[in-house]
Parts: sequence; structure tokens; C-alpha cells
Amino acid sequence: MNYISTRDKSIKVSAAKAIAQGISAEGGLFVPDTFPLFTEDDFNALKKLDYKGRAKYVLSNFLNDFTEEEVDYCVNGAYTGTFDNELPAPMSAVGENQKILELWHGPTCAFKDLALQILPYLLTTAAKKVNGGKKAVILVATSGDTGKAALEGFKDVENTEILVFYPSDGVSPMQKLQMDTQKGDNVHVCAIKGNFDDAQSGVKKIFTDNAVKEKLLENGMLFSSANSINWGRLVPQIVYYISAYCDLLAEDEKIKENGFNVVVPTGNFGNILAAYYAKKMGVPVNKLICASNANNVLTDFIRTGKYDRNRDFYTTITPSMDILISSNLERMLFELSNNDDKFVARLQANLAENGTFTVDGEVKEKLGELFWAGCCDDKATVETVAKYFGEYGYLVDTHTAVALDVYNQYLKETGDDRTVVVASTASPYKFVRSVLEAVSDKAVDNEFENAKILSEVTNTEIPEQIKALETAEVRFNELRNKDEMLASVYANLRIEN
Ligand SMILES: *Cc1c(COP(=O)(O)O)cnc(C)c1O
Repeated sequence: MNYISTRDKSIKVSAAKAIAQGISAEGGLFVPDTFPLFTEDDFNALKKLDYKGRAKYVLSNFLNDFTEEEVDYCVNGAYTGTFDNELPAPMSAVGENQKILELWHGPTCAFKDLALQILPYLLTTAAKKVNGGKKAVILVATSGDTGKAALEGFKDVENTEILVFYPSDGVSPMQKLQMDTQKGDNVHVCAIKGNFDDAQSGVKKIFTDNAVKEKLLENGMLFSSANSINWGRLVPQIVYYISAYCDLLAEDEKIKENGFNVVVPTGNFGNILAAYYAKKMGVPVNKLICASNANNVLTDFIRTGKYDRNRDFYTTITPSMDILISSNLERMLFELSNNDDKFVARLQANLAENGTFTVDGEVKEKLGELFWAGCCDDKATVETVAKYFGEYGYLVDTHTAVALDVYNQYLKETGDDRTVVVASTASPYKFVRSVLEAVSDKAVDNEFENAKILSEVTNTEIPEQIKALETAEVRFNELRNKDEMLASVYANLRIEN
């Protein structure tokens, strides 16, 4: 298996190169040129393994130039002692058919940990093979959760520097504090005056600027990405969908014939894309349900075939989904067009120039067969947190609530009540104010007070990582205009310009 670029498939690289580099030079994203197809025997064997065993099996199918020892080293390092109870992705049952895949038991309380605990291992292993000893500079744009998870994964990792940009008014107070208090000697955090799309576009631009690349090379450095444009982010996410299927299979063999739906609260389209890849590899996923907040550009696209980012941007209580340019959709377009790189390059050029593109014919048809899409506003989000706590005694964060609301819309419209796996992407304590307001009228102005009240009201535990923030020292307070991101990069890397 090799990796090709979605905008030019004549570019062909190994897994190590794809991960070390992060993005293809012309701006395309790396994807495998073929996908493994798992058989019934594979799944039966995987069913008997623990999470690490399943991860090793899946990853070794994709990391063509990693040795078995290297894959073992990466998986063991990432998933030993880092998640509660050694279970990175446990499932809770709610009601009859709803399985909540809890992806927030890692060090930063969001699903990003599943990928960002292992990415530093993958990236440093890859860099040794292809970077010739140069220092890897990880640039991250974040809507809140990626930044903290990447900082936590990369802190003090040898031969790396990590720089995180977040929108100053686009993250929750807890997310901001998590990043501004980050420890480590190789970490840098900068807030920008703009939204997430500004941060993401800024990072992409710096990445693909040849003059900047040269400047780094002169200083013995190379850029890489910890955003989900990096293939090394996606492949660990495929693992938990395969693992969830194995758990369902262990519970009841009938799932094989009946299949199940998956619902994912979606922003950059990375998490739901991983679910699609799992389906492509043989997991019997029926519908992929794409849930958005008021920034519902994906809902419109999936329903109409027209992607249009020329619309108002809303700041919501689900900040990790406040996105109008979903970068991983590019990989899906490549899939839908049967790997038509020219088609993808044309659509992306339209998006860059006009903020819009349209698909029709077979591509649109396939999109509609695979996906169902819906959205909900903040009011419905809060009502859903309250409903699930009231009806089932199960507390969810706001992002997970968006997924559940959209799932209920799907259920109502289609009557398809087969088993559903809901990706639960964050701990309720990360978005504590909104969650507390949903279940009580006791919210106050202090986030840590709110956490204590939430714990009392709901009889749930405050994660230790959140508690520790109350007394953590604030280390970063850099605030820049969005056109000063490159200046920040140079300053933090101590490169003269
Ligand atoms: C990142 C994030 C999402 C969106 O995931 P994508 O892969 O960007 O679609 C949803 N919920 C939470 C809590 C997140 O951190």
C-alpha cells in the first residue's frame, strides 16, 4: 500500500512519508491507494483481543513501512496508563438500541486523545525514517480540543516543537485554560483574533509556502501537522469503530446481518470519515449520520449537493464544531468520485476562490446513499442534554447532545431503529457551564464551582485533569492578528526573518 494525494495521484509516498510530511506539497491530502478488506475471520480474531491488540492489527495494515516492533512500540506507548481503566473506548447502553461510544477517557477529556496520544509516536518513528534527523515542527489550528490533545501528546517529545493557534473568542473557558497552562519545553500557544477557519487557513498557507519551508530547512527543521489533514490522525480513529463493532459482535452475532448506524457530531469531517473507512473495510455500518450545529454547511451539502461556506458564522455551545470549511471532506470527495484527482482539485479550487462547489449525478447519489445529515441549534442541544439525563440518568456533553438530537430526527423521519453507535466526543465537564445549565438552575460564574455543582447534582465524578486546572499556572498569553501567524511561528522558533 502506498499513499497518494487527493489532488494529484501521480504523487506516491510511503506511510512514513505521508505522516511525517502531513500534507502533500500541492495542498492535497494523503490517502491510501488501496484499503484492506477485513473478513469474518479477521473480525472473529479481533473480537478476542483487547483495544491495543485491535489497534496493532488495524495499524499494521496501513503502515506499510513500519516494522511490527515499531507498531507495537507506538500502540503500547499511546494506550498504556493514559486512559481511565485502560479502556480507551468503552461503550455505554442507553435505552434499547443506543450505544454511546465514550471517546473521552483520555488525558484531555475529548476524543482527539485517541489519535493524539499515538500520533507523536507515529510521527517520530516516521521522521526517523524520512526526515534525516531534522526537527519536526508541528503546526496546529484548533477549535479547542485538538490543540490541548496535541500539546499533551507532543510535550517534551524529543526533536519536536509544537505551535498551537486557537481563535481567541472561539473556545470554551475550560479549553482556553487547558491550553494556556500547558507544561513542556517544546510547546507554544497563541490565540488569534479570528475564527477557527482563519486559524486553519493560516496554518495551511504557512505549510505550503515554499519560502517558509526553505527558511525552516536552513534551520534544520521541517513542518508537520497534527490536524486531521494528517493521515496519522485518521488511522487510529478507524480503530475505535472497528473495536466498537467487535464489542457489538461479542454481545450478539446478529449485528453482522442487521448492521448498525453510526452518528457523529461533525466539524472537520475527520471522525465521521474514519467511520466511513471502517465501513469500507467491512464493518456493517448502515447509515453514517452526520450531525452539525447551527454551522450546518455539511447538512446542506449532504442534502443538496451544494457546499457553500458563504454564510453567517455562529459561535455556539459546541465550539469544536464551529467550522465552515471541513477539510476532510476532500478525502470523501476523492472516494465518491472513484479517486478522480482532477475533479477534487477543481472543487477545492472553486472552494478557495468562491467559497462554494456543487456535486451532482453519481457523486451526489452516492453521498445520499452513504450519509444522512441533520443539524440542531443551541436550544435543542441543551434540551437534549436535559432529556438524556432526565430519561436515562446519562449525562452527555453538548457535542454528543447534537449527535443525539440529530439521531432522534433521523429515527423520526425514517423509523430505522436498528442499533446505533453514537460517537461521544467529550466529557460533560469540558463544557461544564452549558451542561450544568441544562440540568439545573444553579450555574454560577466560576467554571470550577460549576464543576463541583454539576458533580453534586448529577452524581458524576469531575475528571482529575479538570480539577488540576484550577491551580495550574498560566504560561501563555500571546494574542495576534490572523495575518501575524507566520511572525509568531518565526518568533517562537527563534528564527530570524
Ligand atoms: C473535534 C471535535 C468534534 C468534531 O470532530 P471532527 O473530526 O472535526 O468532525 C466534535 N466534538 C468534539 C468534542 C470535538 O473535539
